[in-house]
Amino acid sequence: MDTFDLVVIGAGPGGYVAAIRAAQLGMTVACVEKEKALGGTCLRVGCIPSKALLEASHVYAHNKHGAEKMGVRVTGMELDLPAMLAHKDAVVKANTGGVDGLFLKNKVKRVLGTGRIAAPGKVVVTAADGSVTELGAKNILVATGSVASSIPGIEIDGDVVGTSDQAIDYHEVPRRMVVIGGGVIGLELGSVWSRLGAEVTVVEYLPRLMAGMDEELASAALKIFTAQGIKFRLGCRVQSAKNAGGKGRVVFIDADGTEQTLEAERVLVAVGRKPFTDGLGLQDAGVRVDNRGRVEIDDHFRTNVPGIWAIGDVVRGAMLAHKAEEEGVAAVEIMAGKAGHVNYDAIPNVVYTDPEIASVGRTEEELKAAGIPYKKGSFPFKFNGRARAMNATDGFAKVLAHATTDRILGVHIIGPQAGHLIAEAAVAIDMMASSEDIARTSHAHPTLSEVVKEAALAVEKRAIHQ
Ligand SMILES: Cc1cc2nc3c(=O)[nH]c(=O)nc-3n(C[C@H](O)[C@H](O)[C@H](O)COP(=O)(O)OP(=O)(O)OC[C@H]3O[C@@H](n4cnc5c(N)ncnc54)[C@H](O)[C@@H]3O)c2cc1C
Repeated sequence: MDTFDLVVIGAGPGGYVAAIRAAQLGMTVACVEKEKALGGTCLRVGCIPSKALLEASHVYAHNKHGAEKMGVRVTGMELDLPAMLAHKDAVVKANTGGVDGLFLKNKVKRVLGTGRIAAPGKVVVTAADGSVTELGAKNILVATGSVASSIPGIEIDGDVVGTSDQAIDYHEVPRRMVVIGGGVIGLELGSVWSRLGAEVTVVEYLPRLMAGMDEELASAALKIFTAQGIKFRLGCRVQSAKNAGGKGRVVFIDADGTEQTLEAERVLVAVGRKPFTDGLGLQDAGVRVDNRGRVEIDDHFRTNVPGIWAIGDVVRGAMLAHKAEEEGVAAVEIMAGKAGHVNYDAIPNVVYTDPEIASVGRTEEELKAAGIPYKKGSFPFKFNGRARAMNATDGFAKVLAHATTDRILGVHIIGPQAGHLIAEAAVAIDMMASSEDIARTSHAHPTLSEVVKEAALAVEKRAIHQ
């Protein structure tokens, strides 16, 4: 039996990044992954393929509807969906293959098969052909991630009624598509197929979109997406969804209490994700999970069993790739006796629609609920020179700062490239900066980042261009 300083189970962004960092720190590392391609949900069927489709469908929609306003008339343009899907697959392959290369470079041993914790210090890996390998481990890191969840009444057939796993790979643009769930995955993949010509209806249980995001962003997003042609049915409780003779049929109770039925060629169930620990042997190893199936950990990523650690989607907190990565790095640094740490207040959250929506820190609703006094400055993209040049003036940036100390508590942006712009705010929050710090920092002109500066200036009512 080969023995390692660390055996990581799961090669998603949490697991593979942890494995590489551990190798950098001088540990001998094995990473067990049941799928042939490394990179987990994120690289195989999540962040990366969805962004490849969002980028490609944006080019299509922009050329169809936006370019003419900027003096570029595109004629004879047509959608080549097989080529778009091939582009997506090539992007996935480049990224997953890149992780293979990084494992080789860092001497991380890759073990293909399903890992089970037989006991603390011992992982048993079963390959697809049934062969079994035993690995000894000083430490075991559980990074088994998550899978799509569903709700009672929904019959997922993996075809007409499916999850994001299917919606990143429809081989025809559906005439109609119903998206169950108005969260990030539903909005992103709904946008892709809407841009390519599908009539998309989003059915959401709450009276708003994107639960947990700042309410002002959510209502701005609702208006913008509605203007783009996506239909929204908010405050609606889905009763059932199924493949009824080749068509998707979704039955729900609307906000007035009336039963409604929608039919569509495709139904995307995007109601959230749940931790994945099937077959991992947690119970036998004595590792505690909470009532939502998440592996319980302390503030240092240790489970209740010495030598077994957990990170990423399989533990509490936001289900985001970069959160999993930060936790992976911090966990192995702690194993190595270093001061690994994750600042959860500074983890950005991005929805890659058009415009993008990005947030870091506390929302206004959270500050109000916690009774924290705050000042607010916001600035719209329509007064920014670069946004005008891009013909992308929808949205605004909002900076929330403590009323007395001026420390930045939250930054929320809806607008072009918000996902890039939020990086500045994450650094500011991580470094405990004040709104004054951003307001006094020179931002290149003409860039979209000036909107963040102006929003920071607006905290003290001194925005220049409004
Ligand atoms: C459509 C979609 C779009 C997304 N877009 C974004 C985005 O833009 N940005 C973002 O930050 N997040 C995004 N996410 C979320 C992101 O993918 C997850 O937060 C992230 O992948 C979690 O990383 P992880 O390492 O914890 O787990 P995962 O990526 O889920 O990886 C876990 C791995 O463990 C393997 N595994 C599980 N059990 C075993 C076992 N017993 N033995 C061996 N291997 C096992 C699985 O096969 C998997 O490869 C998206 C998700 C989806 C579905």
